Amino acid sequence: MKRPRAPFAIVAALAVGAGAGAAGAALAGHGRPAERPRDDSARLARQIDPRKPRNVVLMLGDGMGDSEITLARYYAKGAGGRLNMDRLPFTGAMSTYSLKPATGTEHLPDYVPDSASTGTAWATGRRTIDGRISQGPNAGASTPGANAGYRTVLERAQRAGKRVGDVSTAELTDATPAVLAAHVSQRSCQGPSDTRAACPSEAKAAGGLGSIAEQEIDHHVDVLLGGGRQRFSQPLEPGGPETVTDRALDSGYRYVGDAAGLSGVRGLRRPLLGLFASGHMTQEYEPLLATEAGAGGVGTRCVEGNRPAAEPSLAAMTRKALRLLGDGASGRRPGRERGFFLQVEGASIDKRAHAADVCGEIGETVAFDRAVGVALRFQRRHRDTLVVVTADHAQAVQIVPEGSSPAGVSATLATADGAPIEVSYGTAAGGGSQQHTGSEVRIAAIGPRAANVLGVGDQTELFDTLLGRR
Ligand code: MG
Ligand code: ZN
Repeated sequence: MKRPRAPFAIVAALAVGAGAGAAGAALAGHGRPAERPRDDSARLARQIDPRKPRNVVLMLGDGMGDSEITLARYYAKGAGGRLNMDRLPFTGAMSTYSLKPATGTEHLPDYVPDSASTGTAWATGRRTIDGRISQGPNAGASTPGANAGYRTVLERAQRAGKRVGDVSTAELTDATPAVLAAHVSQRSCQGPSDTRAACPSEAKAAGGLGSIAEQEIDHHVDVLLGGGRQRFSQPLEPGGPETVTDRALDSGYRYVGDAAGLSGVRGLRRPLLGLFASGHMTQEYEPLLATEAGAGGVGTRCVEGNRPAAEPSLAAMTRKALRLLGDGASGRRPGRERGFFLQVEGASIDKRAHAADVCGEIGETVAFDRAVGVALRFQRRHRDTLVVVTADHAQAVQIVPEGSSPAGVSATLATADGAPIEVSYGTAAGGGSQQHTGSEVRIAAIGPRAANVLGVGDQTELFDTLLGRR
């Protein structure tokens, strides 16, 4: 991809990460463009590629609304800086609502959705109620809905002969990775024991499809990388000796448990299961929790390096997944390789925002953006690859006026410009978990049929984009 030119003359002077000093970098020239504006029509026209994509990479920031992107950009790159995700040629917006439970077939919209219903929307092309994993809506969580008609984009890619991968910094059984390779009424039914307790009629013993972990293994997903060992180590039968991990090994999976193990994997002769944490993977930056009094201050920078080295970064997992899935995937053996579908989730942008952890969510967004950089470099060498970068729903952070003493909890940090940025979280009372918000989210793309993301779209349309139908 040709890099779009820098938007402001001052960009070169804004050394990333060097702006914590108060004297730092005032925006010279009031941020005027460096050169005369140039018409981009020809460059954009060259980027419109009507071929059907061979490979598709969906990069998903959980809870990564426009406020979350803007905060991470200003903090890490400064006001005139750009993230990798800002460099894709086509950018549009996507609505994210879900459905309210109802006894009939008419469901009112729920304007503030969760990750299960939004994931179901792009994974199956159909909306559902919150908490539900690629399964139809009905009157409530305790009654399973229809699985028929909810075949996922991963299942369709497999049927078309493609390799498939599912990568996340959350537990692999968390809602976003789950929607690709599981169908269950409640997102909490992650392992066999969880399912026997919360979704008994969908457990294997009751003739159901089983827990999310079991279904992911049953799907023979070629590359599964993330957290969630505690789900895969649950017994298949109550009190029995065999776990989901045992089942994976029996069905041919190779298992790795740390970064060194992952780097040692050279090929995909066997499908790969990498579980790098008991629960969610460790966040990249140390927490800085917003408080009612206002945490941080004009000189506060986040402390990096919180993730243990044994846990691979999202960028490292993305690089490995692309190498394994993409081996021979771009025309070296035409007719023999049909390409791949890969989903990569930066999961804890949302999870740290729930905790009003401003440094946590910035660190996860920056780490996700590094993974986007890996995908964009792959796309440069494999032009038949469509890369889509988006979010499932927005979160609670707002960039507010300095010293405005906003309601709720707030924090102040120094950005890469050396300027203070104050943020507030106001969707939870009295220190509770911050809630999602209902704003539309950004969707950006590069590669074949990338121009389909332009304009304001519906989350269910992403399903067709990922299948190369539109
Ligand atoms: Mg998620
Ligand atoms: Zn959430």
